[in-house]
Amino acid sequence: MSKELHCVVDGCEATIEAETEAEILEQAEAHAADAHPELELDEETVETLKGHIQET
Ligand SMILES: [Zn+2]
Repeated sequence: MSKELHCVVDGCEATIEAETEAEILEQAEAHAADAHPELELDEETVETLKGHIQET
């Protein structure tokens, strides 16, 4: 079983796939730094991301 996260930014089609929540968040951080430099990954944002992670 793996996990995936569709980017929570409106209009962004990126999908992140990984085996664990930690890996998803790591990749989400890299994606955000690259694609959404204005997005601040504070605790609340990270909680939102966690809430959007789906089992595949
Ligand atoms: Zn994105």
